Amino acid sequence: MLITIASYSFPFEAHIARARLESEEIPAFVADEHTINMQWLYSNALGGVRLQVPEEFVDAAIEILNEDRELDLVETMGDDSTPCPHCGSTDTEFHQIGRRWAFLVFLGLEFPLFPVKEGIRCNHCGKVSRT
Ligand SMILES: [Zn+2]
Repeated sequence: MLITIASYSFPFEAHIARARLESEEIPAFVADEHTINMQWLYSNALGGVRLQVPEEFVDAAIEILNEDRELDLVETMGDDSTPCPHCGSTDTEFHQIGRRWAFLVFLGLEFPLFPVKEGIRCNHCGKVSRT
């Protein structure tokens, strides 16, 4: 029996998670992908793309995905030495490509809806700039 352990707004996110689990030898499956590809704008309303694993792997799979989430947070570094090119404020944060996105690049996929891979976000004017 398959259990849904996570849902994602975009199919590529579900595929990253699936590949991550498979690298740990956990069989994982992506459900509802076709529906979402046709109508991805409504994917949140539909509950997103579901990631499913067999019942006996649920605990291990959730643990792996939670680990990844913590690493993503660590990789968002603060750096107040880079001034914002829009307003000159130095109240900026440096955003780095996270482990999840590095994995995406590793797979050779570029996803145009993910706007910033690396850059700074200004806390003053709210604009995001590429470095
Ligand atoms: Zn600014």
